[in-house]
Amino acid sequence: MKTMIITGASRGIGAATALLAAANGFAVIVNYRQNEAAAAAVARHIRAAGGQAETVQADVSREDDVLRLFAETDRLFGRPDVLVNNAGILERQMRLEDMDVLRLNRIFAANITGQFICAREAVKRMSLKHGGRGGNIVNVSSVAARTGSPNEYLDYAASKAAIDALTIGLSKEVAGEGIRVNAVRPGFIYTDIHADGGEAGRVDRLKDSIPMRRGGRAEEVAEAILWLSTDRSSYSTGIFVDVSGGR
Ligand code: NAD
Repeated sequence: MKTMIITGASRGIGAATALLAAANGFAVIVNYRQNEAAAAAVARHIRAAGGQAETVQADVSREDDVLRLFAETDRLFGRPDVLVNNAGILERQMRLEDMDVLRLNRIFAANITGQFICAREAVKRMSLKHGGRGGNIVNVSSVAARTGSPNEYLDYAASKAAIDALTIGLSKEVAGEGIRVNAVRPGFIYTDIHADGGEAGRVDRLKDSIPMRRGGRAEEVAEAILWLSTDRSSYSTGIFVDVSGGR
């Protein structure tokens, strides 16, 4: 059985990915930062359906937590085959003039430092060079990496553009070591992240800017993540799959 670590999997896109991956035969590590009860519910749901799942607490922006997340995975399921770098945050909408450095540091720590250190620990375990059996890394970027999110989330968009550069560069760095590195770019997806960003109804407000005239569902993003996590995408690395209704 292959093992998948999904960061930030207690809700939203991460939880949808955990359920879909488990239904497709992966043993899943449901990482969460704070919401232990929600993560436990995801794992329970998977086990009730006959799948395998364990929860592991870790703040991905903290190196010591990430080291523990991977050590726990090694102990529970052995070397991971897939890392889904999904955890990410938004903060309240504002213009650049109002953004302080503490906020910028929080956004970059969660969204990009977290993906870097998780990817590093995954490569150490997956690389054929280090005695691993290869694997897949799927980074969750955003359409915002290209649109820039003016007037609301410049910081978030910049962190997502950094994820794109990580995806391209790392995909080339480890292509000869049995590891593929790809990304999904969700558009406007109905999850609680928008409430955290200060506007729960944001997806509906922006619906008319989406060619398909509707927001996306977390499950639709999970399908793209699953494709990039399996041999069904075996000749693709360094690519971006937009799940954005044509945006
Ligand atoms: P969400 O808020 O429901 O999920 C994000 C999860 O990440 C949460 O469970 C949160 O607790 C966790 N998390 C945040 N910081 C963490 C940290 N430091 N350590 C561990 N976990 C942490 O939102 P979502 O929409 O499911 O977001 C998932 C990913 O999709 C994010 O990277 C987000 O930026 C990206 N995304 C979402 C949308 C959208 O419209 N919903 C669009 C583009 C990209």
